[in-house]
Amino acid sequence: MNYKNALSNDIFEVISKSAAQLNLESFVIGGFVRDFLLERGDAKDIDVVAIGSGIELAQQVAKNLPKRPKVQVFKTYGTAMLKHNAIEIEFVGARKESYTTNSRNPVVENGSLQDDQNRRDFTINALALSLSSTNYGSLLDPFNGIKDLENKIIRTPLNPDITYSDDPLRMMRAIRFATQLNFTIAPQSLEAITRNAERISIITKERIVVELHKILESPKPSIGFLLLESTGLLKLILPELTALKGIDDIEGQRHKDNFYHTLEVVDNIAKHTDNLWLRWAALLHDIGKAPTKRFSKKVGWTFHGHEFEGSKMVYHIFKRLKMPLNDKMKFTQKMVFMSSRPIVLAQEVTDAAVRRLVFDAGVYVDDLMTLCEADITTKNPKKFAKYHHNFKIVRDKIIEVEERDQIRNFQPPVSGEEIMKTFNLKPSRDIGTIKEAIKEAILEGVIPNEYDAAYQLMLKKGKELGLKITD
Ligand code: ATP
Repeated sequence: MNYKNALSNDIFEVISKSAAQLNLESFVIGGFVRDFLLERGDAKDIDVVAIGSGIELAQQVAKNLPKRPKVQVFKTYGTAMLKHNAIEIEFVGARKESYTTNSRNPVVENGSLQDDQNRRDFTINALALSLSSTNYGSLLDPFNGIKDLENKIIRTPLNPDITYSDDPLRMMRAIRFATQLNFTIAPQSLEAITRNAERISIITKERIVVELHKILESPKPSIGFLLLESTGLLKLILPELTALKGIDDIEGQRHKDNFYHTLEVVDNIAKHTDNLWLRWAALLHDIGKAPTKRFSKKVGWTFHGHEFEGSKMVYHIFKRLKMPLNDKMKFTQKMVFMSSRPIVLAQEVTDAAVRRLVFDAGVYVDDLMTLCEADITTKNPKKFAKYHHNFKIVRDKIIEVEERDQIRNFQPPVSGEEIMKTFNLKPSRDIGTIKEAIKEAILEGVIPNEYDAAYQLMLKKGKELGLKITD
């Protein structure tokens, strides 16, 4: 088969010419070829294999390009990279790899194209197109990756036990590709992942998180999390999630399976937001339920305080996974902590309750509503419609209250300094008491969020506290 159409980018002619000048063969390989055949849209990067030095080929290509782009050389890896019209092109010499048991970094020697295809993770990632003038555009597909693409199958070129044990990151990649592409992992491969799951311990947390993010960013993340769970990987990476599995039954009182519920929430939210951290919040919104689960004969199953417990667990999970403990982590914590608030509110929508919600959620109130709407997974169509209707009322009320009271970016209308000046005070508890009284009065709707009304209330409160106004 010839796939010259895949090589419409002018860079391929330049690579082909440069390789001929160096008297070596070159191929475009991997994700670029796969994504072209899947019609996955414009490529962001291109991987080129040279039968010889990848670094020399990159330098020759740069020489032949009018803009003479800079070549970044990674000597330790024997690779080089240059940018051409925002596309990153990576060059590597064909290599043969062998592995030791305690590292995913192989011992490398020069090899043939076939050696290089053997070291690829999946048949669909081993497809190569020739850039040599004699057979320009012809497909080299020793493992019938084309058939696997058609049948939507993730399969390793060689024995899957060896492939996954050599580099256990490939287990995460298999599940990630299955999720992104909606492919099936070949049964032998899936069994091998299950057998090798413990090997994930030699992979750095950062690498695991990259794959978790790609799974979460997919259209239907549950595909990946179900595979992670069934292979035993999830228990090793996010045991807080597998702890949500199962339904307890005491004297006929049951609670829902919070693991499968969580996955439904994640799929729901994926339809409404690309915000990765909001998707994380959906994934973790119920994790506090495992440690807070209690049973009482009177009320059945309860999860009191699970939101607070869950928000604390978010911090520990991010820390363990070496994710940055920054504002994204705080946002995720806040969403988990507040995840039940609108539900309580939707029972009875009052102005004061909405003002409090907006005050506490601040600029994230819309994200919080998106999370809570995704949390509606009831299979009862009447209840489903009713809950959505209630949240619609809450959303409308948020807009109405916000237009009037501007709570979202709440700034106290009377500052602490003004209170100190008015009553000739040094920093003291009375200032906090007055500020709190003003805030409460605004949120309860006793006074509007305006300076004059707040000033009058300050005078009244000052008097109650026995403070004297300075002249
Ligand atoms: P994406 O860009 O969506 O991550 P990709 O397949 O291009 O997909 P890269 O990580 O850029 O992913 O890898 C490029 C190619 O290198 C792959 O298509 C595959 O052939 C090979 N590859 C990457 N990682 C591995 C690995 N851990 N083991 C074996 N081959 C790999």
